[in-house]
Amino acid sequence: SLVLVTGASGFIAAHAVGAFLDEGYPVRGTVRSQDKGEYLAKLFAGKKAKFEYAIVKDIAEDGAFDEAVKGVDAVAHMASPYHFEADEPDELFVPAVNGTVGVLNSLKKNNPNISRIVITSSVAAVINSDIKPPHHFDEKDWNTISIPACEKLGRGATGVDKYRASKTLAEKAFWKWIEDNKPSFDGVTVLGPIIHQVDSPDSLNTSVANFYSWMTGKHKQEELPAQGGNWIDVRDCALAHVRALEVPDATGRFICSNGPFSGNDFCLTLNRLYPDLPNIPKGDASQRDKLISEAYFFDGGKCAKVLGIKYTPLEKCLGDMARCLKEKFGP
Ligand code: NDP
Repeated sequence: SLVLVTGASGFIAAHAVGAFLDEGYPVRGTVRSQDKGEYLAKLFAGKKAKFEYAIVKDIAEDGAFDEAVKGVDAVAHMASPYHFEADEPDELFVPAVNGTVGVLNSLKKNNPNISRIVITSSVAAVINSDIKPPHHFDEKDWNTISIPACEKLGRGATGVDKYRASKTLAEKAFWKWIEDNKPSFDGVTVLGPIIHQVDSPDSLNTSVANFYSWMTGKHKQEELPAQGGNWIDVRDCALAHVRALEVPDATGRFICSNGPFSGNDFCLTLNRLYPDLPNIPKGDASQRDKLISEAYFFDGGKCAKVLGIKYTPLEKCLGDMARCLKEKFGP
């Protein structure tokens, strides 16, 4: 059965495409340009199942996915802007919401009998930052802060709130559409917090760029512990997308998270594996448990249980990511 992966050129989506192909599912990936499509075609040439691409220049446009959805059996919708640099909130809201509703409308029009769609939301749509850490979040929780903040402050809202509101609006629009249209397919949201390990970037995506700035000595010991949030290995997140489409009981929201981490973990791992890297703060191993007990905790238990994901340990994830970045870009 053919799987459509939107935004296939992205950091997580490229891994998800690889995971689908490894499991034997042929994939059609949407990309913004022929250049990005050809890059992926080359990357996946040796895989078990066949990869093809379709060009969707802007997910925000009406009917953007009308052609791409034809003949597919399931959809993983992953394209959405992920950065904190927007001026007007609508720069993020419009592609996030229209992209999500657009892919659903295209399915309704041209391919209403598919079995399942999974959209990549984010813990951005779960977190409530007015609750101070430590706090435990799970799939019942929704971000109720960022949309009002953007409504009140407009372009004066923080970049983080603009991004978080865009993901909340997109996910709410998704569940509302499912409720209003009662389609034959059901919906699954995979939520991935901080993602590590980079596969093939020309320019680094937001989450990996953060790690790389530590690795290249841009931060100081005084900045530690530098709370990072929760994290998940991108390969586990990719596999969760495969399982979300595959496992019959997988419905509703899924938080894909392996718990809290901090900049302290980056430094400890980098110092252990690459003691020659210049200007890496030393870190403090004795602080680890304390930091974790004081942080937000996003509960990835449902994802492990229902989707059968065995979470990769942090040391392995960071080590693999550091090696990959070092090989590609140095130092
Ligand atoms: P990337 O920036 O690497 O991927 C974003 C993808 O969306 C790219 O393929 C990009 O295309 C595409 N895209 C963005 N805007 C448009 C548009 N207007 N039209 C067409 N395509 C568009 O980020 P990630 O892989 O990290 O993120 C993927 C998804 O995962 C997003 O939905 C993000 O919100 C979510 N997420 C990410 C987390 C993380 O820590 N990385 C955590 C939780 C959720 P192009 O390559 O051409 O720019």
